[in-house]
Amino acid sequence: WDMFVLAFVERLFRPTFKKDDFMLGKKLGEGAFGVVYRVSLAEKPGLKEGDLVLKKATEYGAVEIWMNERVRRACASSCADFMYGFLENSSKKGGEYWLVWRFEGEATLQDLMLSKEFPYNVEKMILGKIQDEPKGIARENRIIQTIMGQLLFALDGLHSTGIVHRDIKPQNIIFSEGSCTFKIIDLGAAADLRVGINYIPKEFLLDPRYAAPEQYIMSTQTPSAPSAPVATALSPVLWQLNLPDRFDIYSTGLIYLQMAFPSLRTDSGLIQFNRQLKRCGYDLIEWRKTVEPRASTELRKGFELLDLDGGIGWELLTSMIRYKARKRTSAKAALAHPYFDKEGLLALSVMQ
Ligand code: ADP
Ligand code: MG
Repeated sequence: WDMFVLAFVERLFRPTFKKDDFMLGKKLGEGAFGVVYRVSLAEKPGLKEGDLVLKKATEYGAVEIWMNERVRRACASSCADFMYGFLENSSKKGGEYWLVWRFEGEATLQDLMLSKEFPYNVEKMILGKIQDEPKGIARENRIIQTIMGQLLFALDGLHSTGIVHRDIKPQNIIFSEGSCTFKIIDLGAAADLRVGINYIPKEFLLDPRYAAPEQYIMSTQTPSAPSAPVATALSPVLWQLNLPDRFDIYSTGLIYLQMAFPSLRTDSGLIQFNRQLKRCGYDLIEWRKTVEPRASTELRKGFELLDLDGGIGWELLTSMIRYKARKRTSAKAALAHPYFDKEGLLALSVMQ
C-alpha cells in the first residue's frame, strides 16, 4: 500500500499533458505499431518547456505505458526518461495511446555504429577521454568495453525489475546527452513476468535479425497466461525455469559482435552472419574456425580486438551467444566478468 500511495502521489505532481499541448516536429520513427515525433510544448503556464519525444501508438501502447511507469519507479536510469502516457480519444475510433519522454539526444547506437568514425565518435561523447591508450585496437577495445558496460548495466536494471525487453538492438539504444550514457528505449515488445503483463509471447513483434534461436521467450510447455495474482506468486519460479532474460543477452551479444566486426554492422552483413552461425549449429567457436582461415583484414582485426588481454572479450562474447538460453550468462554475471575488471576502464566511473 505504501508503494501504491507513493506512486500515486508521485504521479499527481508530474505534469500531465493533452493533445493540444504538443507542437509536432520531426518524425523520428515509424513502425507497424506507432509513429514517433520530436515535439515541443506549446506555451502553458506552470509547465516547463522542453524538448520531448511523442509516440502515438496502437493498442500495444497500453503495455508500453505500463512498462515505462514501472521502469520509472524501479530502474529509471536504465531507460529514456518517461514523462506521461494517456489514451488520446478525440481523433480515431478507439483512440491511440500517446507516450511522452524527454528527448535524450540525437543519436542511437545504430547511428553511431554506422559512422566511419566508430568507436571514436562515442569516445568524444562519453565524459572524459581515455588517457593511457594510444589510438589503435586497444583503445577501440576500451571504448567498446565502456559501451558494453553501460548496456549491461541498463539491462541488469530491467531484468532485476522482472522486465524482459525482447527487442534489444542498436536502434533501440539511445545516447543520452544529459547523462552521457547509453539508455534503452522502446519497451513496446517488453514483457513483465512478475505480474503477467504481456505474458503471452508476441513473437511477431520480434526483430529476426537480433532474435535468439528460441522462438518463444517462455517454453511452449508453459501454460497460457495465469491471472495476475497467480502470476505474481508463480513467476519467480517461471523466471528461474525459463530464464527469459537470456533472450536479451543473446541480442546484446550480437551488438557486441557488430561493434567488434565492422562488416557485421550492415543489415546484409548481420543477416549473412546469422546464416553462417545457424549452419555452425549456433556454435560461435565453430563459426570462428570456418571463417578465420580465409578472413579479410577487417574480420581479422575484429578477432584481434576480442583476443586482447588473453582473449577475455572473446570469452565474454561466447558466453552471451549460445544456442541454449540456460548456458548464456546473465546481465549481472556479465558485469562481474573479468572483462570489466581492467583498471582505467571508463564504464564504471561514467555510469554513476
Ligand atoms: P519504434 O521503433 O516503435 O518506432 P522507438 O521507441 O524505438 O519506436 O522510437 C523510434 C526512434 O525515435 C528511435 O529509434 C530514436 O531514434 C527516437 N527516439 C525514441 N525515444 C527517444 C528519446 N527519448 N530521445 C530521443 N530520441 C528518441
Ligand atoms: Mg524502436
